[in-house]
Amino acid sequence: MAAQITVNGDRFVEMISERRIKAAVRRLAKEINRHHRGKTPVFIGILNGSFIFFADLIREITIDCEVDFLKLSSYGDAKISSGEVRLLKDLNCQVEGRDIIIVEDIVDTGLSVEYIRHLIEPQNPRSLKVVTLLFKSDSVKPGTHVDYIGFRIPSDFVIGYGLDYAQRERNLKAIYRLHAKPPRAKAGT
Ligand code: 5GP
Repeated sequence: MAAQITVNGDRFVEMISERRIKAAVRRLAKEINRHHRGKTPVFIGILNGSFIFFADLIREITIDCEVDFLKLSSYGDAKISSGEVRLLKDLNCQVEGRDIIIVEDIVDTGLSVEYIRHLIEPQNPRSLKVVTLLFKSDSVKPGTHVDYIGFRIPSDFVIGYGLDYAQRERNLKAIYRLHAKPPRAKAGT
């Protein structure tokens, strides 16, 4: 049976093991290394959620590279997206003429990725790619383009490996999904 944990009274079930995450990170890094041979891309981590994925991915990168970070507003303390993206920390690097690789933990509606594209494209990068560990295929806005995907997952709320629940549980080594509560039986049945 899959491992389970309880956070704030909610039950979560292991969805992607540490071993599978490691294999996906290696696969993504291999593709990125191959596609960017001879270039010096800038990896841009989207804080806070991507920090663990970013650190693991970057250590599998064998070509020359630089790093920088953007901080966007997140879910706050909730399990449901506010539908609003705000920039909390801008880039320090020069984007013009550079090969940019955005590193996201998860793409849900795709709003954040769209926001980042609108922020970076006017600065004339030579190329702009997006890598995400998790991609919620059922909730993403049609037309959202992501270049490298670790896992396609259903629209469940997930935590661990950098992803939080009310700022906690980012330090879990595996990824866990919220266990759906069974519908309550009607009175008298
Ligand atoms: P989007 O803008 O694509 O709707 O959402 C992207 C951001 O929402 C992610 O970077 C992450 O901060 C947050 N997010 C989306 N889905 C989840 C989830 O299942 N769990 C957690 N902890 N955060 C999520």
